Amino acid sequence: MKVLVINCGSSSLKFQLIDAETEQLLFKGLCERIGIDGSQISYTATGKDKVTKVTPMPEHKTAVSLVLEALTESGVVKSLDEIDAVGHRIVHGGENFTKSVVINEDVVKAIEEVSDLAPLHNPANVIGIRACQDLMPGTPMVAVFDTAFHQTMPEEAYLYGLAYDIYKKYKIRRYGFHGTSHSYVSKKVAEIEGKPYDSLKTIVCHLGNGASVSAVKNGKCVDTSMGLTPLEGLIMGTRSGSIDPSVIDTLEKKMNLNTAGVMNVLNKESGVYGLSENISSDFRDLEDAYIEGNKDAIRAVDCFCYQVLKYIGAYTAAMNGVDCIAFTAGVGENSGFVRKLIIDRLGFLGVKCNDEANKVRGEEKLVSTEDSKVRVYVVPTNEELAIARDTYELLK
Ligand code: ADP
Repeated sequence: MKVLVINCGSSSLKFQLIDAETEQLLFKGLCERIGIDGSQISYTATGKDKVTKVTPMPEHKTAVSLVLEALTESGVVKSLDEIDAVGHRIVHGGENFTKSVVINEDVVKAIEEVSDLAPLHNPANVIGIRACQDLMPGTPMVAVFDTAFHQTMPEEAYLYGLAYDIYKKYKIRRYGFHGTSHSYVSKKVAEIEGKPYDSLKTIVCHLGNGASVSAVKNGKCVDTSMGLTPLEGLIMGTRSGSIDPSVIDTLEKKMNLNTAGVMNVLNKESGVYGLSENISSDFRDLEDAYIEGNKDAIRAVDCFCYQVLKYIGAYTAAMNGVDCIAFTAGVGENSGFVRKLIIDRLGFLGVKCNDEANKVRGEEKLVSTEDSKVRVYVVPTNEELAIARDTYELLK
């Protein structure tokens, strides 16, 4: 079964074609600047050179049709009939979706109903579904939710300290994101360990531009750092992570901004970017500056690592212990430097870093020593493959 995986953002569309039986990646690419001047599509058919075309994409439907055109033009498929299914990444499933589902009109309506919880993401996801329905009528589609894996959290973990009535009326609660990644990585850890998934306590640190930590106990997510939206939790690339809610009101007054203006500050001008006095949101730049002794970079990276450390401590308590810790996503997979800063502070858990192994980049690897009490792994995430797997499972 050939599955087209679509991750539709407000101005971008990422895509992959995966043979779900062999799990082979056949084709991948990205449409950028949809609805903005200078839009372009770039793609790589496995084994061939990357192709980039600058071409107008006034809306998402044009982007999807360009993706389909690229698939046939590059010879990856002879005709669109060869695409058996489409798997859509959907950011917010609210409380409606605890697992992936085959898309029908009711599903689209339910995704739209929770759009106010993810106003930047869900409408774009629905546009992606509609565009595929128009251009590939009759092709079955599956929705895979970022929030679904976290729906197993107990009430004590997902409720905020707000009036219960507010939760009941408005569904204001912790949902968590990056669920597809946390699920994929925690399962992979069990596989590497050679132990049943439901027998392990694992903490997954998904550290990328967006970053979150989750606690997975006996195969179920019991807590995660992101909340109602992906703004809560860790300090991220440009996002503040958790702050005292009163900061918003204070900044409105001090900076003479409205709420939207402050939210922009919290989402786009904060995190390690803001903390480093705007050196960069990219950990490669921050790492270089840190090593040179740049105080701004040191401040930002140390604050980031401290937050990860605190979540690991908290989730060890939440699970009454931890067997494995996994690092994944851009920073988690590639930065031995950041990993070491965190692992070296886990002595209280009996964790020891294997400095040689920890030099690894983007590969599955045990990075703790043989006598470390908790095993620490680098596990590259693969959200697209996880989406293709779910799509295949539901439709085969
Ligand atoms: P997202 O999907 O949230 O945009 P990614 O998981 O792709 O983020 O992570 C992107 C981030 O990974 C980059 O901003 C960069 O900070 C970090 N990164 C990528 N490669 C490296 C590397 N070799 N060393 C350190 N950090 C890296």
